[in-house]
Amino acid sequence: MDGYERTIFHVDVNSAFLSWSALKILAEDPGAVDLRTIPSGVGGDVKTRHGIITAKSIPAKKYGVQTGEPVVKALQKCPQLVLVPPDFETYRKYSRALMDILAGYTPLIQQVSIDEAYMDLTDRIAPTDREGALALAKQIRDHVREELKFTVNVGISVNKLLAKTASDFEKPDKTHTLYPEEVPVKMWPLSIGTLHGCGKSTAQKLQLIGINTIGDAAGADLSLLQSVLGQKSGAYIWNSANGISKSRVDPEREQAKSVSNERTLSEDITRENYQTDGVPVIRMLSEKVAGRLQKSGLTGQTVTFQVKSSGFERYSRQMSLPDMTDRAKDIEAAALLLADKLLNGPDGLFEAGVTIRLIGVGVSRISEKQIHQMDLFEWADRNEEDEKARKAEEEARLAEEAIRRAQKARSARQAKLDDMMNKVNGRYGSGTLRKGKT
Ligand SMILES: [Mg+2]
Repeated sequence: MDGYERTIFHVDVNSAFLSWSALKILAEDPGAVDLRTIPSGVGGDVKTRHGIITAKSIPAKKYGVQTGEPVVKALQKCPQLVLVPPDFETYRKYSRALMDILAGYTPLIQQVSIDEAYMDLTDRIAPTDREGALALAKQIRDHVREELKFTVNVGISVNKLLAKTASDFEKPDKTHTLYPEEVPVKMWPLSIGTLHGCGKSTAQKLQLIGINTIGDAAGADLSLLQSVLGQKSGAYIWNSANGISKSRVDPEREQAKSVSNERTLSEDITRENYQTDGVPVIRMLSEKVAGRLQKSGLTGQTVTFQVKSSGFERYSRQMSLPDMTDRAKDIEAAALLLADKLLNGPDGLFEAGVTIRLIGVGVSRISEKQIHQMDLFEWADRNEEDEKARKAEEEARLAEEAIRRAQKARSARQAKLDDMMNKVNGRYGSGTLRKGKT
């Protein structure tokens, strides 16, 4: 025990780009083959069969196809491999929809890439409540699978490092725990290069002194690691190998403020009086929120519906609208939809016998109207989330480039691919602004 225990989930989409491309294809043609069920991959120039694999299906993995390897090599391993080009606009849409769902469980979310996020759920589940954590992880996985039709892995532990390591265990659609007492069995046998934060060159330096597994590093003298890697890195590796991490889940600050209103009800709401007593309150709150937005010259894109039960538990759901709005009608429609899901569905709170004491409606991801009217690219530049997603793309792109350089074979076709990627990146900023969750 290091006194820093929290209940941390790391949620990671299984074969994200591949899954999201598969869903896009299925949405356009429900009769199409599901890419996830056949050997398939995202990346490269599909026609010329050059470039590199940026994502692969699980059947493709069984052929030994690896992310980051040249398409040519992947095709040697698996000649029937089906390839599709990347579609970042679609990826971003699914990424945002996923984060909307996760935000319904806790505001303490840190999105770390387009397809993964940490959640600090300590307020809901004590770090010692292992059963509770497993049940909630299953609930989140089911929620994502049912609503968005793709699967995620959830890693659970008392800190981010261990939760992230756990989510990388067997896939897809699995929950794994990696509590401190499980570290010797589940983490120490892994090769040192798989330790989070241990790059290739660090791993090579450690292998030179006979440290091949994470357990070797955990059992080594701190001073030995520091003499090889330097004070800071040595300490980081030693701590990490021992499952120690003090990094907290750092929720991005609301990009702008949010506007919300809530009302404690004179009488608890149940299934019986929801229509007569609940719906009018939702309507009234939506109008209030819209009025406040309009008064301040603001528009928002994410609507949150929140309730407090008679047992004082808070539940919330949120969704992104396709466009920014300040209209009561839009906010009310979204709030009613969310209320219906949260309260009335077969998994709803009413079915579970929960009665409602307080209702809240809010709008976030707000911008001033003037900003909305600005040049779309400029607006995107101000949007931290866009920035983050773009950064992830940029990283993927840079990685691709590094690999290509290593191959020392920059053909004209690859230059063309660069050009295409740049165009995709360029388009991405503006296109995604208009297309939120549908
Ligand atoms: Mg992933």
